[in-house]
Amino acid sequence: MIRSNSLKRPQLVLVVDDQEINRDVLGMILEDTYEIIYACDGKEALEKIEENKDELCVILLDLIMPEIDGFAVLSHVRSSAELNHIPVIVLTAEKSAELRALQMGAADFITKPFDMHEVIRARVSRIIELNEGRQLISAAEHDQLTMLYNRNFFLEYANRIHRYHPEWHMDAIVVNIEQFHSINALNGREFGDNVLRIIGNEIHAFLGETEGIASRFDADRFDIFCRHPVDYQALLDRLQAKVDEYTTSVNIRLRMGVKPYRPDVEPIVLFDRAMAACSMVRGNYKTHLMVYDEDMRMKEILEQRLLNDLRQAVEERQLTVFYQPKYNIQSQPPRLSSAEALIRWKHPDLGMISPGVFIPLFERNGQIGMVDNFVWSEAARQIAGWRERFGVTVPVSVNLSRVDVFDPMLEEKLNRLIEENSLDYGCLKLEVTESAYTDNANQLLEVVERLRKKGFEIEMDDFGSGYSSLNMISSMPIDVLKMDMKFIKNIEHNEKDFRLVELVLDIAKYLKVPVVAEGVETEKQFELLRDAGCDLVQGYYFSRPLPPEEFEKLIVREKGE
Ligand code: C2E
Ligand code: MG
Ligand code: MG
Repeated sequence: MIRSNSLKRPQLVLVVDDQEINRDVLGMILEDTYEIIYACDGKEALEKIEENKDELCVILLDLIMPEIDGFAVLSHVRSSAELNHIPVIVLTAEKSAELRALQMGAADFITKPFDMHEVIRARVSRIIELNEGRQLISAAEHDQLTMLYNRNFFLEYANRIHRYHPEWHMDAIVVNIEQFHSINALNGREFGDNVLRIIGNEIHAFLGETEGIASRFDADRFDIFCRHPVDYQALLDRLQAKVDEYTTSVNIRLRMGVKPYRPDVEPIVLFDRAMAACSMVRGNYKTHLMVYDEDMRMKEILEQRLLNDLRQAVEERQLTVFYQPKYNIQSQPPRLSSAEALIRWKHPDLGMISPGVFIPLFERNGQIGMVDNFVWSEAARQIAGWRERFGVTVPVSVNLSRVDVFDPMLEEKLNRLIEENSLDYGCLKLEVTESAYTDNANQLLEVVERLRKKGFEIEMDDFGSGYSSLNMISSMPIDVLKMDMKFIKNIEHNEKDFRLVELVLDIAKYLKVPVVAEGVETEKQFELLRDAGCDLVQGYYFSRPLPPEEFEKLIVREKGE
C-alpha cells in the first residue's frame, strides 16, 4: 500500500530507547526535520507503532532493553502484514548485534554513541526515501485487494524462475469462481471483494508453506506457480472450505485447472493449459478439479486445426449435407414424411468428422453461422430440386444452433431461401434443441414466435434432455416434439423407460403436437412406439443419414410404391 507523506506535515519518526539521554540526543539531531515520538521500552514501542502505523516513516530502535527487547519488537514489525512497510533502523553499540538485526530485516543501523550527527541525519533520510520508492514499486506489483502479484509482474517472476531455477519443477494452477459475475451482481461488490480477499489470504497461507508465487487478475482468476508435487485436491478443498466458512447462504463453487510441471514449456503456455483444463470443469457437477493431460492437448490441437480449416472446407465443398428420413409410422406401411438435414465434414486429412465434434466448437467460436447458413441453403435448394425432378415435396428440418438465434439477419436469411427456391414455409422446418429454450428463454421465444408467425414450423429437438418444466412447455411456441434418443434406448427391456415414453406422448397430446422419436434402431422399438401412438420415427432402423444421391434413390423408391 502506498502511504502518502504530505509535504507540509513533517514525517513521523519513532525513537525507542530505554535510556533517556539517548532519546534526547536523537531527538535533538532529528527534530528540525521530523516530527518525533518516543517510547522508553519494548511494550510502549509496540503500542506506539500500532497507534501510528499508517503515519510512521521509520523506527529507530534500541536493541538492548529490559523485558521486551529490540529484537522482539523488530521481529513483530517484520512479520506483521500491517506493519512490515515501516523500516527499522537499529541503534547498537555491539558489532555482533548489527549482523543479527540486519538478518532479521532491519533496514540499517546506527552505532552508539551518537557523535556523527550529519551521518545519522543522512542515514535516516536515505532509508525513508528508499522505503517510499519500494512501496511505490510494491503497489505496482500487487493487486491491491489480495496483495497477490498482478499479472505482468507474476509472469515476469514466473519466467525468471523458469529460466534460473529449472530444478524447481513448478506446477501451474488456475483457480476460478463459478458464476462470479452473478455472485457479484446478486450480493453486491463488497461481498464479492470479501470472497476474493478470503481466497487471496488462503493462497498466501498456502504459499507460506511451500515455495511459490501467485497472482490475481480478470476479477476472479487466481494463478499459482508452485513447486511440484502439490496435493491439488487438498488445495482446492482448503480454499473452498474458507469460502464456505464465510458464507453459508450463498453457494459459491471454486474450480481448479492444473498443468503439472514440464521442463520444456514456458510459464505462459503452462497457464494457458491450466486455464483450458479449468474451463473444462464448467458444468461438470462431479469434479471441480481438472488436470491437463495428453488427451486435452490432442483435443486442443484438433480444435485449432478445425477452426483454421473451416473456411477452406466451405470453399472446397468438404462440407456436405446428409439427409435422414423421418417416417410416419401410423400409416400402413410406414411412409416417408420428411427428412432431417445433418452436416458432415469430409476432411482431406482427418477423414469424416462428426458434427458432435465440430458443432459445439464453432458455437463457442462464433463460426456456427457460416456452417448453418450453408446447410440451410443446401437443404432449400435440394427441396426445390427434388420437387422439380421427382414431382414431390419432401420437407426438410434443419438444425438451428442456439447462437443463430442472436443473428439479427436470421429471419431475413430464411425468408430469402424460401423465396429464391419458391418453397412453402412449411417445407423448411426448424429444429431448436430444448436446452436452448432454457438457456436464453426470452430472446429465443421472441425469435421463434416471429418465425412461426411467418409460417415456419418449429420442432423442439432432444426433448427431455433439458430442464424445461411442464409449465414452461405448455407456453412454448412449438409445432413438433422430438423425443430425445435416450428415452428410446431401453424401452424394449425396461418397463419404466417405456412409461416415460408414454408420458412424453401424453404431454404431446396435451399440447396437440405430433412426436418424432429419434434413434429408433430395432424393429421392436418401432413396434412399441407405433402401438403407443407415436406419430413419426427417425433412426437407423429405417435409414441412416444418407448423402443426397442415396436419399434421392430413397425418394424414388418411396414414390414408386
Ligand atoms: P440431432 O439434431 O439430435 O440429430 C440427431 C443425431 O442422431 C444425428 O447425429 C443422427 O445421425 C443421429 N441418429 C439418427 N438416428 C440414430 C439412431 O438410430 N441411433 C443413433 N445412435 N443415432 C442416430 P449427428 O448427425 O452426428 O448429429 C449430432 C448433432 O449435431 C445433432 O443432433 C445436432 O444437434 C448437431 N447438428 C448436426 N448437423 C447440424 C447442423 O447443420 N447445424 C447445427 N447447428 N447442428 C447440427
Ligand atoms: Mg436435430
Ligand atoms: Mg435430436
